[in-house]
Amino acid sequence: MTRYDDAIDASLQRLHDEGRYRTFIDIARAQGHFPHAVWTKPDGSRKDITVWCGNDYLGMGQHPEVLAAMHEALDATGAGSGGTRNISGTTVWHKRLEAELADLHRKEAALVFTSAYIANDATLSTLRVIFPGLIIYSDALNHASMIEGVRRGGGEKRIFRHNDVAHLRELLAKDDPAAPKLIAFESIYSMDGDFGPIREICDLAEEFGALTYLDEVHAVGMYGPRGAGVAERDGQMHRVDIINGTLAKAYGVFGGYIAASARTVDAIRSYAPGFIFTTSLPPAVAAGAAASVRFLKGQGGVSLREMHQTQARILKTRLKAMGLPLIDHGSHIVPVHVGNPVHCKMLSDMLLEDHGIYVQPINFPTVPRGTERLRFTPSPVHGPSEIDTLVRAMDALWSHCALNRAERVA
Ligand SMILES: *Cc1c(COP(=O)(O)O)cnc(C)c1O
Repeated sequence: MTRYDDAIDASLQRLHDEGRYRTFIDIARAQGHFPHAVWTKPDGSRKDITVWCGNDYLGMGQHPEVLAAMHEALDATGAGSGGTRNISGTTVWHKRLEAELADLHRKEAALVFTSAYIANDATLSTLRVIFPGLIIYSDALNHASMIEGVRRGGGEKRIFRHNDVAHLRELLAKDDPAAPKLIAFESIYSMDGDFGPIREICDLAEEFGALTYLDEVHAVGMYGPRGAGVAERDGQMHRVDIINGTLAKAYGVFGGYIAASARTVDAIRSYAPGFIFTTSLPPAVAAGAAASVRFLKGQGGVSLREMHQTQARILKTRLKAMGLPLIDHGSHIVPVHVGNPVHCKMLSDMLLEDHGIYVQPINFPTVPRGTERLRFTPSPVHGPSEIDTLVRAMDALWSHCALNRAERVA
């Protein structure tokens, strides 16, 4: 009916008008050749490209042990799990994966969800049910999935300025000391690549009797001696009450989870609609994820993590040497500041078309207006020749477009 169609068209037109309409780049990654992929253009023609903005940070999506575990489970048990966790959908592969994750984070238990998005949303909204009157203190730059979970729960919330522990303290001090409290934050914020102050926030949580909820999505697999994240690296993991992670980024597979005390996991398992009323992961996916977690806990993980950090350092050093405005907080994420949505999109288009380099422009609302950027994610599978090609292309484009080369202080 036209009045509905008109409203749909108007909503899409708003996005076009604001330059926020999203176009998906159609790519086929070639197993065994990441980060190489084939891009199918809108006209149907194809071009070989290198993916520079993926979240398969360590190339685990093509790791032989992961693929073998998936094949094995697929052949053993078939495609889907056939049910929710409660009704016929709990298998030995789900149990093994949860045991692997609990061990990874040295917690009593873990709970696997469809994704880390769902894990954040379902857990944060359900904690409100378990702790009536819960006040949630949420970092201003928390991921959309946490914002959604905090909002949907419906109770009291306080937003503290990004990474500002003094502001957090002020907010905590203003509230009733008897009220149940939870501080929700991230270990690495993926758009700037900066770290959350885990130790300071845990100190505050102790002082004010609050629980801590840490999203380690951009750190699991990549930081810490066994890849459990930044809290592990910094010796703070035991102080965090609930850790959230993904199996879809550095672990290269799919799914999300929380790790916490046995009673916390039992309660979330029992109350969270986002866990209860949905089909469990396909066993092959659970098997692949478990194999990836297991591999990255060991010596193989240690070397991949070292290579990953080295690649990030090399790329940053080279881009900085050309005076490109890098945002550098010492993590593996390499954002180059552009500061204008049209330029950002144009640079991304030129990199793809002319240089076969795929980096998605990051524009509002993912980042604030005026901070538009290109966000590169180097990995152990981006070799010297891929880095060379990228650095030369950026140098040429920066000159061609007469963009600033002033160092941006992070
Ligand atoms: C990607 C992301 C998520 C969601 O993870 P998925 O498993 O892809 O749903 C959660 N938190 C942060 C910070 C993320 O960047």
